[in-house]
Amino acid sequence: MDARLEAIRDTVLARNPGEAEFHQAVTEVFESLGPVHDRHPEFLEAAILERLCEPERQIIFRVPWTDDAGRVRINRGFRVEFNSALGPYKGGLRFHPSVYLGIVKFLGFEQIFKNALTGMPIGGGKGGSDFDPRGRSDAEVMRFCQSFMTELYRHIGEYTDVPAGDIGVGGREIGYLFGQYKRITNRYESGVLTGKGISWGGSLVRPEATGFGTVIFTQEMLKTRGTSFDGRRVVVSGSGNVAINAVAKAQSLGATVVACSDSSGYIVDPAGIDVALLRQVKEVDRARLKEYSVRRGGVSYVEGGSVWDVDATVALPCATQNELDGDAAAKLVRNGLLAVGEGANMPSTRDAVAVFQDAGVLFGPGKAANAGGVATSALEMQQNASRDSWSFEHTEARLTEIMVGIHHSCAATADEYGDPGNYVLGANIGGFVKVADAMLAQGLI
Ligand code: NDP
Repeated sequence: MDARLEAIRDTVLARNPGEAEFHQAVTEVFESLGPVHDRHPEFLEAAILERLCEPERQIIFRVPWTDDAGRVRINRGFRVEFNSALGPYKGGLRFHPSVYLGIVKFLGFEQIFKNALTGMPIGGGKGGSDFDPRGRSDAEVMRFCQSFMTELYRHIGEYTDVPAGDIGVGGREIGYLFGQYKRITNRYESGVLTGKGISWGGSLVRPEATGFGTVIFTQEMLKTRGTSFDGRRVVVSGSGNVAINAVAKAQSLGATVVACSDSSGYIVDPAGIDVALLRQVKEVDRARLKEYSVRRGGVSYVEGGSVWDVDATVALPCATQNELDGDAAAKLVRNGLLAVGEGANMPSTRDAVAVFQDAGVLFGPGKAANAGGVATSALEMQQNASRDSWSFEHTEARLTEIMVGIHHSCAATADEYGDPGNYVLGANIGGFVKVADAMLAQGLI
């Protein structure tokens, strides 16, 4: 890392103790940014990096609710409003027991650059809670969401901060959150949340967008080697929103997705995953992935194992951060891996990224490859602002155009900075320069 940046990074780490994931995300971005500061000393003079690493606002609040037995429960809510240089804060809410400030800050920090790469007018933010919706009844989830929004509502708005879903927050949760926002404010402010249901202000393609976008980005990477998804054997991790739609899109392009996972284990379906059955099990019945193997013959279920033990030429990690380490990466490379498209945020450890890059594997980092979700959220905001509703075809065409554009801009930036094919460098520099320029223009705030 450039010595000037390393000194700033060390101060950031010391000022934010115990936030391992935030440290990791900051370090990974700083490692790319030395050459930009050689060309733009004004960024250093204006302390752009120091300002970027300090969220504009961080909100932490108590979320009290009662479970079905009448027992009082207390969770912690977060919203980190990281950077508004390019637009209102934008980023999802994550409900998962592992959520703490370090996770929310890593996600919010990544979101700044991702949102810049989309070319849409959106700043970066992220939020969530250590609440675990798994195993909770609909009524419990509703009471939790209502309590969460009873505090959050005063901080968000169409021109201020626009949350969406993430792990543990899907259409059901967004519905309860939106309902409570509307009730408290007495405003039908569609643009305050994205990921809404289609009949009440949502956008077609938003549910599919992150998974579809990841596959579109990966397809663009494959094209640079004169190949495609057609006929390829693919492994996906996770079996939530991003994973299911990545499976669907990859198979629509002729791939066979042979495996996917949840936090309990993974399935191997050599004939290719039956997407309709997977949706039924996970999205309708809200069952565990194991149930898929019970209902479909010829499928094995491996309890507790790593899905990366399954060989493939394309890997799409779509579950969670740091789910793919250096050893798993080395095994995938030995098994003939050609490309990785990150559907999740920071799923590959820094060791894993180094293994992929050293082996010449095409590697699409999350902040570029999974930007289709937030880009389509921005399209949802656009439809809300104009009180319009676009067709599936039109919205999907816009998503494709945006993902192809992100791929192009990452590749062009990597070329410009003398490291062709390095999408990590291209994404970090491309996103950073847009935000830094806007921050310079807007003065010391
Ligand atoms: P979902 O809650 O729909 O699904 C998450 C999936 O990942 C589930 O299969 C879950 O398994 C698995 N998972 C979660 N945590 C862990 C863990 N600690 N260990 C192993 N598996 C885990 O979330 P999404 O699909 O929305 O999000 C997946 C990833 O994509 C996240 O990194 C998210 O930040 C990122 N992302 C999502 C976007 C979106 O539009 N939704 C946009 C951009 C990025 P289990 O059920 O067992 O917990």
